[in-house]
Amino acid sequence: MGYNIVVCAKQVPDTKRITGDAMKEDGTVNRAALPAIFNPEDLNALETALAVRDAHGGTVTVVTMGPPNACEILRDSLCRGADKAILVSDRRAAASDTLATSYILSQAVRKLNADLVFCGRQAIDGDTAQVGPQMAEKLGFTLVTYLEELINVGNDGIRVKRNVGNGWEDVTAKLPALVTVLDTANTPRPYMSKRLMKFKKAKCALELAEGVCPDAMAEKGLLIDMWDLDALECDMQWVGMAGSPTKVNRILSVVLAGGDYEEFEPTEAGAAKLVSELIEEHTIG
Ligand SMILES: Cc1cc2nc3c(=O)[nH]c(=O)nc-3n(C[C@H](O)[C@H](O)[C@H](O)COP(=O)(O)OP(=O)(O)OC[C@H]3O[C@@H](n4cnc5c(N)ncnc54)[C@H](O)[C@@H]3O)c2cc1C
Repeated sequence: MGYNIVVCAKQVPDTKRITGDAMKEDGTVNRAALPAIFNPEDLNALETALAVRDAHGGTVTVVTMGPPNACEILRDSLCRGADKAILVSDRRAAASDTLATSYILSQAVRKLNADLVFCGRQAIDGDTAQVGPQMAEKLGFTLVTYLEELINVGNDGIRVKRNVGNGWEDVTAKLPALVTVLDTANTPRPYMSKRLMKFKKAKCALELAEGVCPDAMAEKGLLIDMWDLDALECDMQWVGMAGSPTKVNRILSVVLAGGDYEEFEPTEAGAAKLVSELIEEHTIG
């Protein structure tokens, strides 16, 4: 029996290459100054999905929500072995926070009728790790976070080893399930040369040069599907600014510098003093 598998992948600015002009004066990221890359843990999510498909059959569809140039990671996914790629793009989705993003992506998963969804644990730009769990809640799927090893997929569901920080849990979850994947889970496979030669030419309709016929591209299997919010039957009150309860009050550029320090006696009393100061400063508690 094959599985209908969806991978959610995000294109992100390469935050490891932060240089002088990477931040704007208002403290926001200058996306134009940073190369856009495949969110690293989403590559591990894709590899997990491909491994399930290779072992049990089925299809792997990669979905990304973003502007047309996010198709770059969809081409990348097709070159690595994904069966299908879909760009979710719509101006009305601008300003979506994680709640609105997860709503839109969950509508795409619904439309695809997925048995299994793999997400990265976290995106390296937004960094919230909220989108996967929020999608699972909206879809009513079983949620498993922090996959470190895929053990098996079978009649009982998906069995994985979860990394819980100070140890592991061996978990079996009923399908349909949404699983978030860690960067330690596997080594993403490289491009396959035959697929690279084919899919480097894949494009969504908005990327096509004038005069190139979308139907001709589709016939060759090179048209990346594009879905807007109408195609996903989204309720407009849950998308974009309207659907985003997060309000950014202030953005600070934090520079950590050496400062004062305080010593505590290595005694019960010293430790108690340290803990009470940390609680007072709201560092812990
Ligand atoms: C008030 C507000 C306004 C914002 N406005 C904008 C805006 O106008 N434009 C904009 O680009 N961002 C905007 N953002 C950022 C946007 O909300 C987040 O980038 C997005 O919700 C994902 O959150 P995250 O990066 O923390 O992902 P995480 O929750 O850390 O991601 C976890 C996993 O979810 C999946 N995932 C996350 N995002 C996507 C995606 N887009 N496509 C496919 N899979 C995904 C991936 O598998 C990823 O590994 C805004 C955020 C806020 C708070």
